[in-house]
Amino acid sequence: MKGGALPAALATDIMCSGWDQNAVLASTSPAGAVLEEVAGQFLLEALRLPSDASYAFVTGCQMAHATALAAARHAVLARKGWDVEAKGLQGAPVIRVLANAHHHSSVTRALRLLGLGSECIIPLDAGRTGMVAPDVLRAALAQEPHAPTIVVLNAGDLNIGACDDFAALCPIAHAVGAWVHVDGAFGLWANASPRMASLVKGVELADSWATDGHKWLNTPYDCGMAITRDAAAHSAAMRMTAEYLTSGGPVRDPMDFTPEWSRRARALPALAALMELGRDGLAAMIKRCCDHAAAIFDGISDLPGATGIARPTMNQGLIRFDAADGTNISDAVIAAINAGGEAFVSGGLWDGERVMRISVCGWNTNADDVARTVVAAGEALSRLR
Ligand SMILES: *Cc1c(COP(=O)(O)O)cnc(C)c1O
Repeated sequence: MKGGALPAALATDIMCSGWDQNAVLASTSPAGAVLEEVAGQFLLEALRLPSDASYAFVTGCQMAHATALAAARHAVLARKGWDVEAKGLQGAPVIRVLANAHHHSSVTRALRLLGLGSECIIPLDAGRTGMVAPDVLRAALAQEPHAPTIVVLNAGDLNIGACDDFAALCPIAHAVGAWVHVDGAFGLWANASPRMASLVKGVELADSWATDGHKWLNTPYDCGMAITRDAAAHSAAMRMTAEYLTSGGPVRDPMDFTPEWSRRARALPALAALMELGRDGLAAMIKRCCDHAAAIFDGISDLPGATGIARPTMNQGLIRFDAADGTNISDAVIAAINAGGEAFVSGGLWDGERVMRISVCGWNTNADDVARTVVAAGEALSRLR
């Protein structure tokens, strides 16, 4: 399977290897550090997040979770008078994490890496809509109103692209001093399109956001972004000093915001992608992918043996396939489509049933690809039924 990075992002990524900068400090790579600040500002503007938020370019959304949740951990414990960077978690007040039950498993692993453990998660029922209802959050918060609390919400869950009602939920969480973190691996990019932004209404009210460059922004692997409203908490969680380092100056040191020490100038391909697309090009690409996902869903759902389970509201949808005798053959159809090489689809479990996931985020996916995907699904189905 070949990926589909934007040409300028790919060229910049190759240039970064040749240039071989260590974008750890402004002193080791002045240009890398300055360009990272430009990339960060472009990113905040593109995603329509607070312009004074802090950002870190990391390897992917999972490490963006680890970075942003470390900032969250710092902030909720600092409010209890606990310095987690110095004392760690031994003896600390117990943090609870209330997470949309449809959270991605990368959130769980990030919490494991932070020493919070997977069992700190209290799932918030999100039913079939994938959205946490305000009363569900209110009731969960009321269980222990004074505990240090992090709330994890979704901007685009991996099955149906569901987005939480941030405008309703963020104020509820903030009223009791909880920190709201958003998993927006791909879904946060809906905010870059005026025509899709209503899906993530109020997302800018959260305290931190994690997203990917290597999904919907179409940078090469690997590129993720952690964004935090509270820049002081972000750098308190990540900052490191050592006698041999030269730091301090007009340009920020990237490593004060990232879990890595030495690192490639990884913000540059993201900057190149944003510049290549421009604001309108980015918005158009987001909308186009959503339209293609809906067209693939509609075309395949019409086939005999196919049942549309979730029509894309964003760029993700679900379809189930049944044999004439009613047996669920979704996994066999998925395998046949992937073996044919016309498209790559993955499976999932929805409501206890195996289903096929549709996901479109390629800048170069076109109407012909959509038609070929529908034909490939039709051929697989007629052979397998
Ligand atoms: C892909 C994905 C992640 C993990 O992102 P990586 O870049 O692979 O670390 C997290 N959340 C969601 C919703 C995703 O789709």
